[in-house]
Amino acid sequence: MVNKDGKLALLLFGPPGAGKGTQARQISVALEIPTISTGDMFREALKNQTELGKTAKSYMESGGLVPDELVSAMVKERIARADCARGFILDGYPRTISQAEYLQALFDETGEKSLTIGIQVDDEHVIERLAGRLTCPKCGKMFHQKFTPSKAGENCDECGTKLILRKDDTAEVIRERLQVYHKTTKPLIQYYKGLGSYAEVDGEKAVDEIFNSIMNVIKAH
Ligand code: AMP
Repeated sequence: MVNKDGKLALLLFGPPGAGKGTQARQISVALEIPTISTGDMFREALKNQTELGKTAKSYMESGGLVPDELVSAMVKERIARADCARGFILDGYPRTISQAEYLQALFDETGEKSLTIGIQVDDEHVIERLAGRLTCPKCGKMFHQKFTPSKAGENCDECGTKLILRKDDTAEVIRERLQVYHKTTKPLIQYYKGLGSYAEVDGEKAVDEIFNSIMNVIKAH
């Protein structure tokens, strides 16, 4: 929810491939608040060979979850930074009940309210989307080989960097990520419904339609 001081703590929720990253980028531009993607933070740590990156590597490559304590400590530090003063969008966090409870405890300390928006997509579409997904390692823009190819061919049409296929966007790892989502992450829907701060949008629609639905939910709060 938008807080009294106008601050928005938005949690984008949904299975891998639902379009959380794509939507987060657009909302971030529209509302001028940062997107915090825990997946991107881990990929950055991995690229920079930090201790955190080395620890996260095996979990990420097998499609499993990085331990709660590591993720939550990273998020706590990130949302306390000055650029989050007017709000932020969390993409890919929380993913377990323990992470959700941790985050809620942080919000309770400050009296902050959050709004969770679930992007609903069926498993078969997730597989189809992720299997052809290309990501820009520099600016994070996402493409799909078949549905939304880059205008610049193999390069990002926004920043020109060569696009990559994420290591965990392979059939076997996608299956594992989906299983983890259904078993561990999906129960969070009930958690946030219980808090009265959950809304859902249809993630099977066109990117701009989904964006409009999300913005309408935000305005309504
Ligand atoms: P994503 O880009 O959100 O799909 O995240 C890629 C990978 O990073 C996941 O498959 C996990 O291994 C790890 N990861 C990202 N966010 C979390 C989180 N909140 N909890 C645990 N692991 C995470």
